[in-house]
Amino acid sequence: MEKIPYKIYLTEDEMPKAWYNLRADMINKPAPLLNPGTHEPMKAEELAPVFCEELVKQELDNETAYFPIPEEVYNFYKMYRPSPLVRAYFLEKALGTPAKIYYKFEGNNTSGSHKLNSAIAQAYYAKKQGLKGVTTETGAGQWGTALSMACSYFDLDCKVYMVKVSYQQKPFRREVMRTYGASVTPSPSTSTEVGKRILEAHPGTTGSLGCAISEAVEVATTTPGYRYVLGSVLNQVLLHQSVIGLETEIALKKYGIKPDIVIGCAGGGSNLGGLIAPFMRDKIKGLADTRIIAVEPASCPSLTRGKYAYDFCDTGMVCPLAKMYTLGSNFIPSPNHAGGLRYHGMSSILSQLYDDGLMEAVTAVQTDVFRAAERFARVEGILPAPESSHAIKVAIDEALKCKETGEEKTIVFGLTGTGYFDMVAYESFHDGLMDDYIPTDDDLKASLSTLPVI
Ligand SMILES: *Cc1c(COP(=O)(O)O)cnc(C)c1O
Repeated sequence: MEKIPYKIYLTEDEMPKAWYNLRADMINKPAPLLNPGTHEPMKAEELAPVFCEELVKQELDNETAYFPIPEEVYNFYKMYRPSPLVRAYFLEKALGTPAKIYYKFEGNNTSGSHKLNSAIAQAYYAKKQGLKGVTTETGAGQWGTALSMACSYFDLDCKVYMVKVSYQQKPFRREVMRTYGASVTPSPSTSTEVGKRILEAHPGTTGSLGCAISEAVEVATTTPGYRYVLGSVLNQVLLHQSVIGLETEIALKKYGIKPDIVIGCAGGGSNLGGLIAPFMRDKIKGLADTRIIAVEPASCPSLTRGKYAYDFCDTGMVCPLAKMYTLGSNFIPSPNHAGGLRYHGMSSILSQLYDDGLMEAVTAVQTDVFRAAERFARVEGILPAPESSHAIKVAIDEALKCKETGEEKTIVFGLTGTGYFDMVAYESFHDGLMDDYIPTDDDLKASLSTLPVI
């Protein structure tokens, strides 16, 4: 058999020309978004004041399997895609495992993460609709960075509400966003009604994605020519991120490789949903029996310890209700260092797949994650984002199990981004100051007690 190269690249011609919508092949479809007042499924015209028209169509479409990637988006993709699928020969050697480990690396663009894949699509549809600008939230800052790049490319205004703890911890992220022309406001802020309410109820709060979403939605719906865009969780975002999985599938097929295990970190579920899409399709169709593993932080364990129920997507309860594994919309996770994984809920698509037993989920504590990150960096070179390192941790665990059993499994994981803006976190790990806070059952009971009654 031909030796597998260290990096499997695709040519531009081999890049996927359409996004894949896994919902079309799901037997149990994800539950619809509900109007928070009437509890009826949200209609397109109710979503239109919040989201761009074309994106509303994508959000509500459970039937169309393929959406052509618009030419402008495809051309932008060509600047930084296809992303490499890397065979982690050095990591395998360091672990002494017979497993074959591959990672799909999404950190090769200035935003440093996979988020640009959806940001450029969303900015394109906003521009096509003739909008002036968009608003959004950002946690660790990767989504805000990606969106500010996409907006500057299409000459759109970009207003970012950034979770306060990240705004303080990551001044460089903020400046990257401003370099691309975005305005950045720490959330909760006093510039919105909902921000003022949240600050009154929780003075001194370091914020959460849920708070920042509420503020961004308020501004979008009260400013003419603006819509709100979201970097994760939504069906449309998983659709755009399917480019990750499709490229991975094409690259593996080139060498006749079938993955046994596919692993991804899960915050709101966009990279994982994108990475697994074609593998889950084959699993649903009975064509493969791939194990699919979601990895979440022990500090924010929505799949593993949450409830599968309708909940608000935001703290201010202004968004539609989504059925998902959730910790409750007023759950404020400890300020851990994987900011991109600190969301209280999980994509409705992934929630349904998990509930159907098609996907596994595990948690990892921070210090174990950083230990895995460092181990990976020292042999594979790439300095991984803390979020991505959750997947590294579990890929290493699975490879070590193969070492015990002698099985030559093929493991594929998503390396969603780089960690250059996370050096404060690495510093606290190196100095032994990092803790492994895990919410108690009582903490979760308190936030879950506020789930809406449907
Ligand atoms: C945002 C982010 C994540 C988590 O978001 P998902 O929507 O769950 O993919 C993971 N890794 C990186 C690098 C991120 O920026």
